Amino acid sequence: MSRNKGKEILERLRKGEIILADGAANVVLTQNRLDIGGGTAQHNITHYDLIAKLHKDYAAVGSQIAFANTLHASRHSLSRHSLEDKIGEINFEGIRAAKESGNPVFGLVTSAYGVETSLFDKEYIKGNYAEQIAYLRDVGCDFIYLLTHVDLVDAKCAVAAAKEQAKDLPIALAFTFGHDSSVIFCYDHTSTGATLTGIVKEFKDEVDVLGFNCGTHPFYSKALLQRFRELTDMPLIVQPNAGKPNMDGITYQTNPEDFARSIHYAVEANNGQGLIVGGCCGTTPEYIRQVKKTLIKPLKT
Ligand SMILES: [Zn+2]
Repeated sequence: MSRNKGKEILERLRKGEIILADGAANVVLTQNRLDIGGGTAQHNITHYDLIAKLHKDYAAVGSQIAFANTLHASRHSLSRHSLEDKIGEINFEGIRAAKESGNPVFGLVTSAYGVETSLFDKEYIKGNYAEQIAYLRDVGCDFIYLLTHVDLVDAKCAVAAAKEQAKDLPIALAFTFGHDSSVIFCYDHTSTGATLTGIVKEFKDEVDVLGFNCGTHPFYSKALLQRFRELTDMPLIVQPNAGKPNMDGITYQTNPEDFARSIHYAVEANNGQGLIVGGCCGTTPEYIRQVKKTLIKPLKT
C-alpha cells in the first residue's frame, strides 16, 4: 500500500509540481543536549518521541514528505560508533517515527564512503547499502533517497543496491557540491572532482530524482539548479544547508527568511519542472515554514 505513495509523489513531480519536504534533525537534538557525535540516527531508539514530534512539526508548517532520520545508519557508518548491532532497530524506528507525520516517507541512505571510496571493494560498498535499504524497504518506506554523495563509483554502488533491493520504490539521488561541509564557494563539482555534467550524464536515466544536498550554501542553489536545468527536465531535489553553523552549534549563519529567499530564487530558475525543496543541516521547522510562504506567495525581489 505504502509503495503507491512514492509513485504518487513521482507522478506529481513529473507533472511539474513543487513539493516541500522536511529539514534536518541536528539542531533539535543539539538543543536537547543530545550527543550527535555518533550520528543523529541513534536517537531514533533513545529519543523516539522527540524524532516523531519533529516530523509532526515539519508537517504542521507545510512539509509534504518526511525525510526519515536514517542518516548514517548503514552498518559501515554505524560501526564507527559501535552501533552496528542496532542497525535493524535504528532504521525501523526511524521510518516509524517519520510515518507519524502522516506524509509519504523517504528512507535516507547517506554516502558512507565518499572520498575514501577507492579504499573499498565495490561489492562490499554495494552490500553495505543493500543491507540498510532492505531494512528500509521492509519497514515500508515510500521512496529511497541516496544523499550526500561526492564520488561517482560510491553513488553507482548505492544506486545498484537500491535497484536490487527496492525494485518497486522510486529512487532519489543527491550530490554534495562544494569543497567541504563548510563550503562558502560554489563549485559545480564535488570534493572528489565529479562534475555536475558528468553526474547528470551518468544518472539521469538511472534514478527518478536527481539533485543536491548539504555542503552547498543556500545562496548558490539558484546557480546549481540552473546548471541542472540546462542539462535535464527530470524531477530534481534542492536541499541546501542553512549556511555554516555558528559557534553555538544551534544557530546557523543563514536565517530562515534568507534561506527561504534563496530557495525562492532557485525556484525561479527551475523552468516549471518537478522539484522537491527541503533543508539539510541547520534547517528547523521555522526554515520550512518560511520556504512554504515563498512557494505560496512569491517574494518581492
Ligand atoms: Zn547537511
